[in-house]
Amino acid sequence: MAVYNFSAGPAMLPVEVMKQAQEEFCNYGNSGCGILELSHRGKLFEPVIRRAEANVKELLGLSDDYAVLFVQGGASMQFAMLAMNFLNGGTADYADTGVWSAKAAKEAARFGKVNLVCSSKESKYNHIPAFDTWKTTEGAAYLHITSNNTVAGTQYQAFPETKVPMIADMSSDIMSRVFDPNKFAMIYAGAQKNLGPSGVALVILRKDLAERATAAVPTMLNYNTYIADGSMFNTPPTFAIYILALVTDYFKKLGGIAAIEKINNAKAAKLYGFLDSSDFYKTPVVKEDRSRMNVVFRTPSEELDALFVKKAAEENLTSLKGHRLVGGCRASIYNAMPMAGVDALIDFMKDFERANG
Ligand SMILES: *Cc1c(COP(=O)(O)O)cnc(C)c1O
Repeated sequence: MAVYNFSAGPAMLPVEVMKQAQEEFCNYGNSGCGILELSHRGKLFEPVIRRAEANVKELLGLSDDYAVLFVQGGASMQFAMLAMNFLNGGTADYADTGVWSAKAAKEAARFGKVNLVCSSKESKYNHIPAFDTWKTTEGAAYLHITSNNTVAGTQYQAFPETKVPMIADMSSDIMSRVFDPNKFAMIYAGAQKNLGPSGVALVILRKDLAERATAAVPTMLNYNTYIADGSMFNTPPTFAIYILALVTDYFKKLGGIAAIEKINNAKAAKLYGFLDSSDFYKTPVVKEDRSRMNVVFRTPSEELDALFVKKAAEENLTSLKGHRLVGGCRASIYNAMPMAGVDALIDFMKDFERANG
């Protein structure tokens, strides 16, 4: 029986990708060497990293104004790295819409002044504050947003208009839906939710913003190092980048992001549709801000939440426990989760409600 893994990250990978990686693990391209054994500067690996870059550019429709970079340290290191490069004692605007946003703002405060343009913390981050209430700073170094709030289960349905460079943490919804990348000066994402394994962050950076980087930033933390050396100043995380290349190959084969978005919309609509039809399950998230990636819900009690998670795992529906900070249940339904997984979850939810309602 299939296992459906609802983990928030590291998360499910397409089975096709894992099978191909398995084949190439010990013998890549008939070289007699496994993919992990190849020199990053060799003629077998270098095309892999360039293909990963080209796939990202193609899938997101990026112009040559943008550089595609691969950086270690995950999304969390980007919280500090972007502020080191672009804040430099100035003021940055942050939208406080979840625990990851708050962490990003906290790191930035080490390098300059942070202004929270809005915060939904008081209401447990159950919504994204309306843009017309945001208190922005004129001439801010940048505005930072978190496009999908992985823990609280909210997602921007549209993006604000800004005069200052907009930077987005898209860790948990990158390549899940079509959007206009030209609104952003920088986009970053830890790979382990929608793009591949942990160990690499994808950074998309408009080159004119990179030119503003503070010169004193250490070499390995300066974006210009990555631009100048094609993300290969030192040894990059070759395996993570290789898997990202395979995942993005797979996205292209599916028909690109528009095709993937359709499936994601159908999965989310089905799951929320079921939640709305039930009196047993409740979601705390404001309807218009619901995430199509992380569906947060609760049963009538904490005891039943725990039982739900345990019983679901026995039915091969795994990692449904909510984030430790908020409790409850959470189903992460990233690109690699098939509709069959959502169907199996809904069937289980109906059975559980019948037994415990
Ligand atoms: C998971 C996540 C992070 C943290 O990613 P790491 O790669 O573990 O540092 C940051 N932001 C968002 C929105 C996330 O979902």
